[in-house]
Amino acid sequence: MTDTQFDIMKVTAHISEQPIKLTKEASPEAELLEIMNDAKASLTAYTEDTRGTCMDERRRTELKSGKPAVEVRPSLPGGPDVYLLAMRELTGYHEGQDLTANERAHDSKITLDNEGILSGGHEECAADNLLGTWAGQVIVDNQAAIAEYTHRKFDEAGLEFDMNLMNQVFEHAADIQASGRYAEWSEESYFDLLGAEAGEAIEKLEHAPHLGKMMIWVDIEGQTIDQTKIGNRAFELNLPYMKRVENAGINGPAAELVPYARYAIIGALAAALPNEELQEGMLSA
Ligand SMILES: [Zn+2]
Repeated sequence: MTDTQFDIMKVTAHISEQPIKLTKEASPEAELLEIMNDAKASLTAYTEDTRGTCMDERRRTELKSGKPAVEVRPSLPGGPDVYLLAMRELTGYHEGQDLTANERAHDSKITLDNEGILSGGHEECAADNLLGTWAGQVIVDNQAAIAEYTHRKFDEAGLEFDMNLMNQVFEHAADIQASGRYAEWSEESYFDLLGAEAGEAIEKLEHAPHLGKMMIWVDIEGQTIDQTKIGNRAFELNLPYMKRVENAGINGPAAELVPYARYAIIGALAAALPNEELQEGMLSA
């Protein structure tokens, strides 16, 4: 491990000047810095064989199987299955195909299995249960704010923002809403899809309100925040892991819309979450 040993001293913690969401007085900067430092100190290595999980900030208590140990997992909205399903919807990956929500979820699951990306998620997951709502109506209702947020993320990454491509994502969101194909979808549909795997793949979280004040991006290969240590203070988004899922599951013309759909998802979830303050932080190396 000498050559590749992770050096936490080289990690930069950055807080964006602009919050993703703020409908009350901002928390003192010292408090946000403390969250960032704790997140940095909690960084834990994961491998290609570590299951993914949701960005949800609440502490992990046990697995669905009842096993008490929950390993530290890389995270994104809903877990890899839910995220890929939403990304494919918003990039129009299945455009022209008359598929139900269950068929789409099954198709994503096969792709992830083939690519060696292990399923994961949690019980009582709004990103999963309400996928049809946030990927449809919430995006449709918050287009201006989502376009502004996406544009900002593009500027930060040095990418050129194209409103025509952003609008294509909005059209796909409108299609999700109009189709009603997620009317019967719930996390039970997802657990059924996982079958026997659900016991190991699905985490149980503490019953607590969403109190996270930050959305922390981790842009470090193979490192993730320990959500149980940071619990209830910050959501975690693992950018290299998100890209791994996106690259595994989306190709062809839909690929052009990937970064637009990625930030539309974060913007929509920020709008849908009850949290009044969501500051944005980034850990990079
Ligand atoms: Zn969740």
